[in-house]
Amino acid sequence: MNENVIIGREFRLASRPDGEPTLDDFELAETRVPDPGEGQILVRNTWMSVDPYMRGRMDDAESYIPPFELGAPLDGGAIGEVVASRAEGIPVGATVSHFLGWREYALLDAASAVVVDTGLARPQDYLGALGTTGLTAYLAVTEIARVKEGDVVFVSAAAGAVGSVAGQLARQYGAVRVIGSAGGPEKGRTLVETFGFDAAIDYRAGSLPDRLAEAAPEGIDVYIDNVGGGHLEAAIDAFNDHGRAALVGMVGEYNAPVPGPRNLYVAVKKRLTLRGVLVSDHLDRFPEYIGKAAGWLADGTLHTEETVVDGFERAPEAFLGVLKGANTGKMLVRHTTNGN
Ligand code: NAP
Repeated sequence: MNENVIIGREFRLASRPDGEPTLDDFELAETRVPDPGEGQILVRNTWMSVDPYMRGRMDDAESYIPPFELGAPLDGGAIGEVVASRAEGIPVGATVSHFLGWREYALLDAASAVVVDTGLARPQDYLGALGTTGLTAYLAVTEIARVKEGDVVFVSAAAGAVGSVAGQLARQYGAVRVIGSAGGPEKGRTLVETFGFDAAIDYRAGSLPDRLAEAAPEGIDVYIDNVGGGHLEAAIDAFNDHGRAALVGMVGEYNAPVPGPRNLYVAVKKRLTLRGVLVSDHLDRFPEYIGKAAGWLADGTLHTEETVVDGFERAPEAFLGVLKGANTGKMLVRHTTNGN
């Protein structure tokens, strides 16, 4: 490969945002792609994921995952095709899932890539329903909030990637009524007509606590929290005794944290369980989860939607979009300029 030098583009963090990020926080740079060493593969990325948690990594703050470094390439979930391999067991042409997104080419140790079965599902599904998105929803529903027969379940950011899967899995695991909140009437229709929720709340229109009380007159038993803030506060008030919340994320607060919930004492009176989850603690559950979820996708039990932004150079736009609700289902970037 030495005589054919490959030049690839990558996005780097140009500046740390104060509040809402902008396109100026990203820099598109060209770099020479090294040849794979012994035990390594070179991957041409075809799909990449943009996720709300990446907003936290733009800050210089300690968290469960290190911050992005200024001037260095960003990273995140991606799918690609192996174009050169010096690793046993990963041939050229294999489709792999890995964590070096935000670049056109990824040089990886074989252990950092997982070959995915494109006979089982489409490559991009491994960034969505068959990826950390789906596994997060599965854990939240089955292990963290432990949805059971007869539960009334409330899901926030319900038209998004995790929320849309969580709502459908809640039904699958016995929920008698599933209520979702999302921004705008169109997403509300999608929740009911496409994802099979019983009721949808447009959290931007009117009072969320009032709308939740109308949608769940008997109260809620489970809340899958993707948003935090006023959503969590409303859920705490709507809970029945011994309600369970899976704290999955707080996307409503990533640009500007808000104090609260103000009614936390209600959790004492109602003996609530509020339990956080990080999918990264449970990656060993992938084989079990994919075994089930591939079947649900194939037989239609699980319906997925995705919002695709075409063009690697538009990745920052897609990322800013996911923070503002530009997506229904999983937000994905499709590489279109490097051979696709
Ligand atoms: P997503 O739901 O597909 O996209 C984010 C959605 O959040 C947007 O589409 C938008 O939908 C909604 N949103 C943005 N600002 C909001 C606000 N102020 N109030 C209410 N909704 C708002 O993203 P995702 O990847 O599935 O992630 C959902 C949540 O799960 C995030 O909090 C994320 O950090 C978390 N997560 C956690 C883990 C974990 O391991 N704990 C793993 C994956 C994801 P609307 O149009 O409805 O506003």
